[in-house]
Amino acid sequence: LTINDPQKDLKICVCIRKRPITKKELNKKDIDVLTIPNKDHVIVHLPKVKVDLTKYIDNQKFRFDYTFRESCNNDIVYHFTAKPLVQLLFLGYSPMVFAYGQTGAGKTFTMGGDLSQRDVDFSKGIYALTANDIFIHLNKPPNKGQYNVYCTFFEIYCTKVFDLFNEKKRLRVLEDHKNLVQVVGKKEEHVETVDQVMALIRRGMSVRTSGTTSANEHSSRSHAIFQMTLKKKTANKEYGKISLIDLAGSERGRDTQTTDKITLMEGAQINKSLLTLKECIRSLGRNAEHIPFRGSTLTKVLRDSFIGEKSKVCMIAMISPGSSDVEHTLNTLRYADRVKEL
Ligand code: ADP
Ligand code: MG
Repeated sequence: LTINDPQKDLKICVCIRKRPITKKELNKKDIDVLTIPNKDHVIVHLPKVKVDLTKYIDNQKFRFDYTFRESCNNDIVYHFTAKPLVQLLFLGYSPMVFAYGQTGAGKTFTMGGDLSQRDVDFSKGIYALTANDIFIHLNKPPNKGQYNVYCTFFEIYCTKVFDLFNEKKRLRVLEDHKNLVQVVGKKEEHVETVDQVMALIRRGMSVRTSGTTSANEHSSRSHAIFQMTLKKKTANKEYGKISLIDLAGSERGRDTQTTDKITLMEGAQINKSLLTLKECIRSLGRNAEHIPFRGSTLTKVLRDSFIGEKSKVCMIAMISPGSSDVEHTLNTLRYADRVKEL
């Protein structure tokens, strides 16, 4: 890997990250069906059986801006995804990074870091690495002393928004006569160090999953949006904003087998938001006049970042290597593929 490879002039960058196969998966006879032969391809090896019962492997190849093998750590992933966007933040951009994929494929690991590691440096994910870089830029000339930084953290469950910095208080999304969308009453925290940011995130993540049986059980159903906003001290209005989004489990939107009404309703909302998101990103890529952001709460609250010249999107689609997940993996690859298609 060459380290100094920024995203050039890409308005939309789509990457794939494969996580390592787990012992649990190997124990249940899962095999790794994914190969990443170079830095921009991924091959899915699908075991198939012909009508005469001979077995064969159907290899499906996909190409993306970057593909990350299971040996890539969060630092490498960060370097090619969010890092170039932090530089743009200081030019007044409003970039967005989306972690997409099936539950268990590594979205939270990529964003939040390795929660099983007590060693802070080892555990850094995109939230921490982004915050770290923002403060480095902030303390260098000509930026030094020019800006204040604020964080917000909220989640979207179905069409409702909850503040993760304020005990999951319900927030309202309003659109004013100038078409500006506001999440009213969200708590903005002024931050000056990475440690402050990480303490807030840790608190927000525990608020998010409190009262649920497992972290994945809840997070698979909701989108978590963490934002860092730069405000000029002289003007005190938004200058640039980076949004880091840990999306709901993509498999949820496809669960039509269930008869449980709540699960069906949740699934329908997740499906709608992920489809609208894809359409909004595609519109951005085409430089379309109209961005269909009204189609879901997720895209509505991100409206400002989709509108205007200074939009940038990076999607990191996570994939699980196991043979039992291959259908979900193919769905993720197809979705990620479509995001780039004009
Ligand atoms: P998701 O948020 O997509 O549901 P998680 O991030 O919670 O998935 O990952 C599921 C499990 O796999 C966690 O135990 C996590 O630590 C582990 N994991 C995910 N990605 C990686 C990776 N790249 N390397 C090592 N472990 C990983
Ligand atoms: Mg998660």
